[in-house]
Amino acid sequence: METRTHSCVVCGLGDARALVKTALATGQRVVVCATHALVHDQQPIKAATVEVLSGMCREKRRPSERRESFPKDELGAMLTAAFAGERRTGTDRRG
Ligand SMILES: [Zn+2]
Repeated sequence: METRTHSCVVCGLGDARALVKTALATGQRVVVCATHALVHDQQPIKAATVEVLSGMCREKRRPSERRESFPKDELGAMLTAAFAGERRTGTDRRG
């Protein structure tokens, strides 16, 4: 029985409408989502294996998820002020 993959070999996305095939350096065709097909297309060299392809896609993802370390005190203060103002307006209306 042949291996039939109906999900992206990189991220596992199973939406058939977003899935395409991309050719590895070996000529093997694997199923990937449109996003990862694009990432692969943009590589100067094709991936030899699914593992390499996954690695390529992972490298694109910068560890910018940790935005909490970014100083947002200023923004927080502005938001607090904005909401405080709104709340005050609402209270005034009641009176
Ligand atoms: Zn994917």
